[in-house]
Amino acid sequence: MHKLIQKAVVEHNLSRAELTEILQDDSCKTELFAAADEVRRRYVGDEVHLRGLIEFSNICRNNCCYCGLRRDNRNIKRYRMDEETVCALAEHAVLKMGLKTIVLQSGEDLFYTPEVLCRILRRIKNLDVAVTLSIGEKSLQEYQAYKQAGADRFLLRIETTDKELYLRHDPGMSWEQRRHCLHDLKTAGFELGTGCLVGLPGQTTESYADDILFFKQIGADMIGIGPFIPHPDTPLKTAAGGTLDMALRVMALTRLLLPDINIPATTAMETLAKDGQRQALQSGANVIMPNVTQVDYRRYYDLYPGKSTVGGTPDKALEKVKNLISAIGRQVGTGYGASKHFQKK
Ligand code: SAM
Ligand code: SF4
Repeated sequence: MHKLIQKAVVEHNLSRAELTEILQDDSCKTELFAAADEVRRRYVGDEVHLRGLIEFSNICRNNCCYCGLRRDNRNIKRYRMDEETVCALAEHAVLKMGLKTIVLQSGEDLFYTPEVLCRILRRIKNLDVAVTLSIGEKSLQEYQAYKQAGADRFLLRIETTDKELYLRHDPGMSWEQRRHCLHDLKTAGFELGTGCLVGLPGQTTESYADDILFFKQIGADMIGIGPFIPHPDTPLKTAAGGTLDMALRVMALTRLLLPDINIPATTAMETLAKDGQRQALQSGANVIMPNVTQVDYRRYYDLYPGKSTVGGTPDKALEKVKNLISAIGRQVGTGYGASKHFQKK
């Protein structure tokens, strides 16, 4: 196993069988995490880039079986922020908290027409900040409009590259369309973020290996990996869910194969363990997305149990993240934090 990990450190390439072998071997994880930490340091340095996350609507037309925001969940209070509220949160995050990237995330809520969203984007871009969108599947034309209005990056997880599993867990959605959207986002010129869940019923080490190879094949600039956490008001409420350990292994291998991308230490990792984000930062991650949504909205952005309490209020969340970064001898990123992979293109 040592040889395989060293091969990945040097060549940044492994076959499906080799990835699977490492994912299945419990005994090599300490070496794997250390190797990913070293490759992270060598390619993207010690800076940890912060992104202020604004969850501006929890209304969604889709019905993903794993997600608490799914259309059929009637036990959730729905909200959508108006333009002024979104812009005020962004202003606070940039001018008061000093953040240099704003992430606008929501369910697939058709209330926000391209016209409304572009207006919000232009206002936020006036703050001299990078903006990431995470709003789901749209047409190429819409993606191009957002890009023109100033959006820099887009996050759209493939969730799983296993077609049969995708269709089972994302009813009514199209596996081909998801891939097509990622292609369109590249065409529109976005810095491209995708990623997967770890621990959905039916996922195997082989399917994680395929996910990692897919990230490499599409030339992603950012990869978010989240352990799946079952939500009580979804069809997957009795599922076992993912483990932090497997999510970290998938993430560490992603760092070895895509050395110069951005990788967040995800909130779902922190939800599973008090030091989940610290472990992630020391196993290949170089980004954290502190939540800047006010707590009275955030409690309803209930993707999975435990999420809404991670970090506390926006100011506390930021302080906690900064303390973590200095405690592990790293520094808060000073620039906009575009991925090195994207900058080289
Ligand atoms: N609606 C947009 C989309 O699906 O791309 C953006 C928001 S969506 C809530 C963001 C991510 O949350 C999804 O890509 C999914 O991977 C993650 N997610 C949803 N339910 C989850 C759960 N139960 N556990 C962990 N992550 C979850
Ligand atoms: Fe909607 Fe995104 Fe949740 Fe799916 S994962 S139900 S698209 S918010």
